[in-house]
Amino acid sequence: MLEKLLIANRGEIALRILRACRELDIKTVAVHSSADRNLKHVLLADETVCIGPPKSADSYLSMPAIISAAEVTDAIAIHPGYGFLAENADFAERVEQSGFIFVGPRAETIRLMGDKVSAIRAMREAGIPCVPGSDGPLGENHDENIKIARSIGYPVIIKASGGGGGRGMRVVHTEASLLNTVNLTRGEALAAFGDATVYMEKFLERPRHIEIQVLADGNGNAIHLCERDCSMQRRHQKVIEEAPAPGITEAQREMIGDRCVRACQTIGYRGAGTFEFLYQDDEFYFIEMNTRIQVEHPVTEMITGVDLVRAQLEIAAGRPMPYAQEDIGIRGHAIECRINAEDPKTFMPSPGPITLWHAPGGPGIRVDSHAYSGYDVPPFYDSLIGKVIAHGETRQLAIARMRNALAEIVVEGIKTNIPLHREICQHTAFKAGGTDIHYLEKRLGL
Ligand code: ADP
Repeated sequence: MLEKLLIANRGEIALRILRACRELDIKTVAVHSSADRNLKHVLLADETVCIGPPKSADSYLSMPAIISAAEVTDAIAIHPGYGFLAENADFAERVEQSGFIFVGPRAETIRLMGDKVSAIRAMREAGIPCVPGSDGPLGENHDENIKIARSIGYPVIIKASGGGGGRGMRVVHTEASLLNTVNLTRGEALAAFGDATVYMEKFLERPRHIEIQVLADGNGNAIHLCERDCSMQRRHQKVIEEAPAPGITEAQREMIGDRCVRACQTIGYRGAGTFEFLYQDDEFYFIEMNTRIQVEHPVTEMITGVDLVRAQLEIAAGRPMPYAQEDIGIRGHAIECRINAEDPKTFMPSPGPITLWHAPGGPGIRVDSHAYSGYDVPPFYDSLIGKVIAHGETRQLAIARMRNALAEIVVEGIKTNIPLHREICQHTAFKAGGTDIHYLEKRLGL
């Protein structure tokens, strides 16, 4: 196994990785910014290295600082977590060129899937259903673009090939605004992502967000681990996730899961990954692939019993695929609420000291969090302070357990979105399941 692993991340995911390493007797190196000396995983790690000041650009995003930390501590492998450098192909390449194992796919796979135009092309060729669209970048010829839009049918959406985080997208409802919108999106894409390439897709009006978790060993062995429904979103950010997705049949699951497995084999995928789809009128439409572990991975772990982070480490160590498809079954239902340090009404970040942290418990409850009483949430990073996951034999029981957990959890000193979660759990539409991606914003009156 990997003797020593450097965790190139912070917060709850860094702690999650540390826990998996402990189980496997892998020694851990925690790297942290000067604002993060008191992070839980930093206090628990075998070795720690301060890699820079609070600003992410000078610490968690500094490739030389992270690679030097791996060199001085004699780490064997680097786990990037999610966010920061997790989907940076140059980082994966530099890690491997420096002689370390990158816990994730090969750099060329990250590059292929990181560019949406090339990702969609590769996925279409591999038999994955995609949104009807321009099937490539839009050119300068406006008449050509009008023809493409007419053949797709309005509304269409113009998207930046290098886009991410829900940015670089604009919807076009009429031909009159097409030229202007293409030019605007190009300008934005160049400014934000350094690449003016844009493409066109049919704009789906009321889709759900359904994604497929996969694991592959890079040697042709791949499996899928059921789907997750992440339609409960605000500003394209997921708020609640669940698995399995309400209303998806076993036949649909097998069909789409199978295609994702074959796509993994086609592109030589290695590690954990997620195929994201929009789902509308019983059809799946691929939008992008995430080549890393995701925030919402615990709901899949709860229903399948598979430890995805452990599997990532085993695959990175070159062990054979730990599971075959027939080993994967679904038991019950799991729901995750993301706990953010933010005002539940205005969504403004609410950093500062947590004076009291009391975690919920009981059957089927899991809490993945780096928070504790006395922990000071720094203002420099993402506001996620933890996740509450509820598992039950049925969706109804999972919701009942989540409601209990949200009633028990106590966080004092900072504001959190827990009141919002308590409210959503009472919504009739949430209890029924299957709401679309616009539901929460409409409900919040946004
Ligand atoms: P990002 O990488 O920025 O997250 P995605 O391509 O994953 O971009 O899209 C993010 C979100 O934008 C989707 O979850 C969905 O809400 C919306 N979206 C993207 N493409 C479409 C589309 N063709 N029709 C409707 N909504 C879309």
